Amino acid sequence: MSSTEHFKAWVVSEETDTASEKKRYQLNFETRQLSDLPDGEVLIDVSHSSVNYKDALSAQGNPGVTRVFPHTPGIDAVGKVLSDSSGTFKAGDEVIVTGYDLGMNTAGGFGEIIQVPASWVVRKPASLTALQSMAIGTAGLTAAWCIEKLLHNGLQPSDGPVLVTGASGGVGSVAVNLLADLGFEVHAMSGSESAKSMLTALGASEIVSRQHLGEGLKKPMLKEVWAGAVDCVGGDTLFQVVKSLKYGGSVACCGLVAGPAMSQATVFPFILRGVNLLGVDSVNVPLAGKQALWDKLANEWTLSGLSALTQTISPADIPDILQKIQQGETLGRYVLDWS
Ligand code: NDP
Repeated sequence: MSSTEHFKAWVVSEETDTASEKKRYQLNFETRQLSDLPDGEVLIDVSHSSVNYKDALSAQGNPGVTRVFPHTPGIDAVGKVLSDSSGTFKAGDEVIVTGYDLGMNTAGGFGEIIQVPASWVVRKPASLTALQSMAIGTAGLTAAWCIEKLLHNGLQPSDGPVLVTGASGGVGSVAVNLLADLGFEVHAMSGSESAKSMLTALGASEIVSRQHLGEGLKKPMLKEVWAGAVDCVGGDTLFQVVKSLKYGGSVACCGLVAGPAMSQATVFPFILRGVNLLGVDSVNVPLAGKQALWDKLANEWTLSGLSALTQTISPADIPDILQKIQQGETLGRYVLDWS
């Protein structure tokens, strides 16, 4: 708990090695002052945050995520409003902030206090606890957004199996559970042996190995297998999925852990099978859309496996979890509890 004037935060600092001129990044647990926070209307006492892939990139100094140091990562935060100069919220309101610039170049939820524009802040649905909201976090919101888009494009359980790639990660594990809860036959692609029991418990009926989609890279089309897919992996894997969709099927693309480029992409699956590649961004979605999705996750789309896919961690665990994310060794969601 913060004293309001001083608070604790993980801080990434940048140093340049004088001999090699290479940049190095150090993560330290520090005491910060309110005056260290960026300008913003809403001051929030953060009770929980969560750990996402993007936080690991920020802590490594990835310039696509963070350019200004010292910096506190944490793209998700939930907590109570301390003050709001915009007049939108009153002290004590329970609110959630995910995405926009939080944790990128704006100090994020790996600090006990954040200060952000009111236009980034959603009201926490009353039926979700603070912990549950961060178990969902950006990853869960992204999974839900992918599934919204697939449903909007007409996907139904009777169409056939749906694939989730990067299934044991944050986005993937929520996607597996939500699709299964919605009555879909879910195939989970995972490189992790130890994730199999979790994925089965979340509702996956089949586990697909990563190697499976490494075959037939140069073939223009592959056998029709999946009616739809949520892809967290990107790279050539994404296009292997596109080539394996059933006629008229759709894949929602949200991630790039295997890389950004589809080196063997052609137009054939699109013009011969009428498949759809749906882009998903959950970061800069207009606030009203985010609030609506949070309300849906709190009511119609409550996740049956949310507690099974979530581990609660303390601030001291952050460096270890960030390292595991970089090595692709995490399972499900990690909620940082500041209390
Ligand atoms: P995680 O690190 O939690 O999960 C990623 C999973 O991908 C891993 O658990 C692993 O699952 C798999 N994986 C890791 N490395 C590789 C690799 N080299 N090749 C193939 N599979 C790999 O990340 P998140 O779930 O938080 O994020 C997933 C992706 O989604 C990231 O790229 C992230 O940047 C992106 N994202 C995008 C958002 C958007 O708005 N578009 C928002 C949030 C995230 P397994 O072992 O089961 O294969």
